[in-house]
Amino acid sequence: DRIVSGEANELDRQFELSLRPQRLSQYIGQHRVKENLKIFIEAAKLRQESLDHVLLYGPPGLGKTTLANVIANELGVNIRLTSGPAIERPGDLAAILNALEPGDVLFIDEIHRLSRTIEEVLYPAMEDFCLDIVVGKGPEARSIRLDLPPFTLVGATTRAGSLSAPLRDRFGVLLRLDFYDEASLIEIVKRSSKLFEVEIDDEAAQEIAKRSRGTPRIANRLLKRVRDYAQVIGDGTITVAIAKQALELLQVDRFGLDQIDHQLLECMILQFNGGPVGLDTLAASIGEERITIEDVYEPYLMQIGFIQRTPRGRVATKLAYEHLGYTYNDEIK
Ligand code: ADP
Repeated sequence: DRIVSGEANELDRQFELSLRPQRLSQYIGQHRVKENLKIFIEAAKLRQESLDHVLLYGPPGLGKTTLANVIANELGVNIRLTSGPAIERPGDLAAILNALEPGDVLFIDEIHRLSRTIEEVLYPAMEDFCLDIVVGKGPEARSIRLDLPPFTLVGATTRAGSLSAPLRDRFGVLLRLDFYDEASLIEIVKRSSKLFEVEIDDEAAQEIAKRSRGTPRIANRLLKRVRDYAQVIGDGTITVAIAKQALELLQVDRFGLDQIDHQLLECMILQFNGGPVGLDTLAASIGEERITIEDVYEPYLMQIGFIQRTPRGRVATKLAYEHLGYTYNDEIK
């Protein structure tokens, strides 16, 4: 597992629960998303109706699951959590839907991975709060309609583009989560330190924030590792010196890049003269899946301006050359 991956590993799942903000007021950053949600939630409560279905999209670790829980808490309802790959048969989904109480939130993570058959069960459920069930076989088969309690579907996906159009169209609220800015990440690191009951200097919190790739999950994971280091090497307080040493040891550079990012960028620079290089060629060269590069490596490298997407392929920018210590030749480019 990469320490700078936005995806959750087993260890994250164990300690993250205690760090999760419960209310909108504790949810740091993402101001536009919060402002929108606040209004929609308030309106639903005033009308005493269930909230419109919400689609949350953005890279892993930015707080989609957390936000789904926050929404349920703000509405004062229960939440049922599941994921696209976990729902295998239409009956699985029917059972989940049938067990909901009026107004409940159903959270489906990785909703782009639902099969077509399951999606089709979901359409009438989302639109009319009902299930069409086929009973019997052959010429005897007939469809019966079962009413469901009104509920709110909160779907999360890292790839909004992979969602089928009919499914996407059934969400009333579409919210994109962006990478967090440094100030928000500092706040997250400080909040988590408090919950971990560990002292941290302002500068140390900033050092961790800078290397977190705009991602709260990574910020918390780095904080946890730095805390261990501070306890073993120092007196438990996270000073900036301790934070720097620990992060160096973890091989996370000052932009939050690890060896694998370096390998990817070096491959582009040394083997392909900085690009443009097609995604498939790049994937084959570093022995990775195309989709991993697209979903995991690339979004942040593009965000910080190290990689650009062009019609002819990916290009390493001057910033990337300089960061890795290579000379960028403007004339050849
Ligand atoms: P996702 O579902 O997008 O992969 P999660 O909701 O699981 O991400 O978030 C990962 C962790 O990051 C959470 O456990 C939480 O501790 C932290 N986190 C996410 N968003 C925020 C936020 N806005 N404020 C504070 N902590 C956050």
